[in-house]
Amino acid sequence: MVAQNRSEERSETEKEKLDILEATQTIIKEALDKLGYPEEVYELLKEPLRVLTVRIPVRMDDGSIKIFTGYRAQHNDAVGPTKGGVRFHPDVTESEVKALSIWMSLKAGIVDLPYGGGKGGIVCDPREMSFRELERLSRGYVRAISQIVGPTKDIPAPDVFTNSQIMAWMMDEYSRIREFDSPGFITGKPLVLGGSHGRESATAKGVTICIREAAKRKGIPLEGARVVVQGFGNAGSYLAKFMHDAGAKVIGISDAYGALYDPNGLDIDYLLERRDSFGTVTKLFKNTITNKELLELDCDILVPAAIENQITEENAHNIKAKIVVEAANGPTTLKATEILTERGILIVPDVLASSGGVTVSYFEWVQNNQGYYWTEKEVEERLEEVIVKAFNNVYNTAINRKVNMRLAAYMVGVRKMAEASRFRGWI
Ligand code: NAD
Repeated sequence: MVAQNRSEERSETEKEKLDILEATQTIIKEALDKLGYPEEVYELLKEPLRVLTVRIPVRMDDGSIKIFTGYRAQHNDAVGPTKGGVRFHPDVTESEVKALSIWMSLKAGIVDLPYGGGKGGIVCDPREMSFRELERLSRGYVRAISQIVGPTKDIPAPDVFTNSQIMAWMMDEYSRIREFDSPGFITGKPLVLGGSHGRESATAKGVTICIREAAKRKGIPLEGARVVVQGFGNAGSYLAKFMHDAGAKVIGISDAYGALYDPNGLDIDYLLERRDSFGTVTKLFKNTITNKELLELDCDILVPAAIENQITEENAHNIKAKIVVEAANGPTTLKATEILTERGILIVPDVLASSGGVTVSYFEWVQNNQGYYWTEKEVEERLEEVIVKAFNNVYNTAINRKVNMRLAAYMVGVRKMAEASRFRGWI
């Protein structure tokens, strides 16, 4: 019975992830049509060029062997090597990894990096695994995918439930296989192993820059603006801190277990000190609200920074924010995008808003390749330049082509891949 429930849950998750992939393909098609590309360009870009499925045997601490399933998808490498994170999560599916690899290609195009998109994932629950089991799984994954990855082929990075320690093990395993030190194989490493200053907070920095630019366009001063952030993990917690430091009032935050609300502004420093490494903090409080209530709070800026499919046709009519900036991947469905756009709410889409992470990952790879390291200030200045340029490009495309920001971002994102594929003679 338990097994049956698990398999029902799993097929529900698979269906949801397939919907996300199909929604991505729908917007890619629309973007290519708007740009006047023929059907064969869509046929090339609608799916990754390569998807490898691997089975990884891991010796668990109790002596038993458990077999984990992992994936690595490489969407398109016409522009350059593919790049993208590795996710450790029980809900990882092949469709999800495919969709995420396409989004990485779009992000690389939007911030104009010399990469295509890649993504990986392992079906596992790291919250229930020991430190050493996680090390064995991370090393096993690298051995399983080593043929198709490398500093000039496909460069992994952290994603949901993976961190700099996991990147360090993966880099060490790859270096052992290749028999030379390969810091450029992976990004998001600890500083002592060739990591970059500013990588950990890069996604939130990028989101902060997008919020500032969007608020300017909407005539909303950041000082005193009421901000709601869903998710208090890597992206959400740094973002709440940056908003708080910029003088905004963060009136709501949440995690997987509930949400906190204070119309006078939450004490973000206090919450940061108390959150655990999985971004959980609300369990410590009695007076919580639900994630559903959080999304519908009266505020100026709403930042979904947790998981997919949070703003749907069911709640889009109740969203009160004037700007929605998507730090998470895929938090708003296509139908909800239409509803919010009709209601005059400005959406800064995920592929633009969360591109700060891959941008600083690129900076890390450049520093590894040069063997010359930048200061935090240099990283921040370069990030600012890249994100502002990308924001302006997408915003102006939206205005000039009379489309919403999501479609504009896809139009900017696919163009470079399509052009590179054409020059290579693939289409
Ligand atoms: P994380 O694992 O550090 O944090 C996730 C947060 O979301 C946690 O606070 C968790 O409690 C909360 N959460 C989980 N399930 C939830 C639910 N059902 N309802 C409400 N909250 C829930 O992850 P992260 O790295 O902060 O990533 C968050 C989102 O941002 C993801 O969509 C990720 O793909 C995207 N993103 C992250 C980065 C990055 O560099 N961290 C880069 C690009 C995009």
